[in-house]
Amino acid sequence: PDPASRSKAMHERARASLPGGNTRTTVFMKPYQLYAERGEGCRVIDLDGTARIDCINNFTSLIHGHAHPALVEAACAQIRLGSAPGLPTASEVELAELLCGRVASVERVRFSNSGTEAVMNALKAARAFTGRPKIAKCEGAYHGSYDYAEVSLETPAASWTQAPPASVAYARGTPQAVLDDVVTIPFNDIDGAVGLIRAHGTDLACVLVDPMPNRAGLVPADRAYIQALREVTREVGALLIFDEVISFRLGHAGAQPIWDVAADLTAFGKIMGGGFPVGATGGRADVMAVFDPSEGKPALPAGGTFSANPVTMRAGLAAMDLLDEAAFARLDAMGERVRAGIDDAFRRAGVPGGATGLGSLMKIHFTDRPVRDYRSAHHGPAEAARQAAFFRALLDEGVMMASYGLMALSTPMTDDDLADILAAVSAALSRSASA
Ligand code: PMP
Repeated sequence: PDPASRSKAMHERARASLPGGNTRTTVFMKPYQLYAERGEGCRVIDLDGTARIDCINNFTSLIHGHAHPALVEAACAQIRLGSAPGLPTASEVELAELLCGRVASVERVRFSNSGTEAVMNALKAARAFTGRPKIAKCEGAYHGSYDYAEVSLETPAASWTQAPPASVAYARGTPQAVLDDVVTIPFNDIDGAVGLIRAHGTDLACVLVDPMPNRAGLVPADRAYIQALREVTREVGALLIFDEVISFRLGHAGAQPIWDVAADLTAFGKIMGGGFPVGATGGRADVMAVFDPSEGKPALPAGGTFSANPVTMRAGLAAMDLLDEAAFARLDAMGERVRAGIDDAFRRAGVPGGATGLGSLMKIHFTDRPVRDYRSAHHGPAEAARQAAFFRALLDEGVMMASYGLMALSTPMTDDDLADILAAVSAALSRSASA
C-alpha cells in the first residue's frame, strides 16, 4: 500500500457517497480499491500510472481486451447516430441472427442488459411456459442476483453432512417463499440431482445449470451429469436452462457442443456485448413465444428501457465477428499453456494447488484434493488466507485476477504476455508462500 496513492485518495473520497466507497462487491479491495485510468489491449493502467496485465477482463466479459479498435469504431459509429433511439434497430436483428446461427438450440432471442436479467427472463419464461412454480439449481453456483437464482450460492460447511443440500438464503431478507420454490441440487452428483428432480417432478418449471460454475470451483461438469439432467428434465416435463453468461466464451457455438447437449433455454451475457452491458435469453421458439406480443398481452410481458440498445448490439456484433473458429483454437491453446504453467509453478514452489478450467478460463486453487463440486472447492480459512496473499502478491507482480482466483484470457495477449503472466505467478507464489 502506497500512502500517497491516488487510488487510495479516490477510495477515501468515495466513502462519502458510496457504501464503503464501493458500488460493486466483486471489485472491493482492502486497504483500498484500485481505480482504473484506462485500459489498453490486455493491460489496465490505474490512477497511479501502474500498468498490469489484465487476467480477469471485467470478470470474463472482455474477450478482446480493452479499447479494441474494431469495437471502439463500431460503438462510436452508433453513438454518432444516437445511442438509444427508442425504436428497434437493425442491429438487434443482426445479433439475434448471429446467436441463432451459432447456437443450434437457440431459435429466438430476447435481449436485456445483464446476465442477471438473462437468467431471470429464462426462469420466468420457464414458469410461464410450464405453469409450474419451482426451479432447481446447483449448490454453490452463481447465476446473478435475481432472488431465486442466488439461493444456495453459499451453504454453511456445518450443513454438508446433510444430503440433499438445503435452500440457503444468500442475502439477508430473502423471503421464505423464495427459498421454498428453489430446489438445491448437488453439482456433478447424478443420483443426488436426479432423485431431487424426480421428487419435485410436477412442481418443477426448470433446472438451471452452468456447465462450469465458477464459484463452485470452475470444474467442467461431467458429460454424464449434464446428459442425466437433460434426460430427467424431459421425463418430468421441466425445461433445461443453460447459464452461458461465462461459458459462452468456451467456443464458437458456446458450451453446448462441448457437452453434446441442447438446452431448452440459454442465458447469455458478458462477451456478446463487446464490452457494454448486455444479457440475452434464447431458446426454443415455442418456449420463447411467451414473450411474443403479437397476439395481445404476452404470457410474459418484458420491457427494458435500454434492452437491445444499438451501442451494445453493434459492439457485440463486432466482438463476435472477430471470434471465428481460429480465434477459439488460439484461445484454447493459450489456456492450456497457462493452466499447465500454473500447475508447474505450484510444483516448483512446493505449494499444494493448481488450476482448473477449460478454454480461456482458469481458476487457481490452493489445495491438492480433487475439486469436483462446491464442497470440495470450498476454501477453509488457511486456503483462503493463501489465496488472499497470492492475489496481493500477483497484483504487485503486475497481473490482475479475481480475488478468489478466477482468470480469463483475451485475444490481444501475445506469447510474451503469457510468459510474463506465468513468471508473475511463480514470483507471487514464492513471495506469498514465504510471507
Ligand atoms: N451467470 C453467471 C454464470 C455469471 O458469472 C454472472 C456474472 N458474473 C451472471 C450470471 C450475472 O451477470 P451480470 O453480472 O451481467 O448480471
